[in-house]
Amino acid sequence: MDALAALRKRGFRRWYEHTLIEAHAWLISCFLAMVLALALFEVHNDAPALGQRIPLLVGAVFCVKGAWAAYRRYFQTLQRAEIMAEAAVCPQCGTYGRFRILAGSENESGDLNHLSACCLKCQKKWQLDA
Ligand SMILES: [Zn+2]
Repeated sequence: MDALAALRKRGFRRWYEHTLIEAHAWLISCFLAMVLALALFEVHNDAPALGQRIPLLVGAVFCVKGAWAAYRRYFQTLQRAEIMAEAAVCPQCGTYGRFRILAGSENESGDLNHLSACCLKCQKKWQLDA
């Protein structure tokens, strides 16, 4: 589900909560990939034959690459959630996170753009600068 559809379906607060959980799942994936990379490297050092060492080393390199990709995904997801959280305050009544999305778009990397929102408390319409 894309970010805009998820935001409309769940509402901001649940979307924010879900996005934070997703971000931290990426962080855990990064950690697990690093542990696997270190384990493969350790086994690589103990392997007697070159034919056994090369696949282990290649596996360790792929795990490091996967860990880096997971870290980037963690950082991007967390950043997206924090930027939206900063913009989610009604400028008229100061209510946090209680709004309906009227219109918006999403760029190719999944970031939300040009969101117009309507406060559920005071009906003020404003533009979220996410
Ligand atoms: Zn309001």
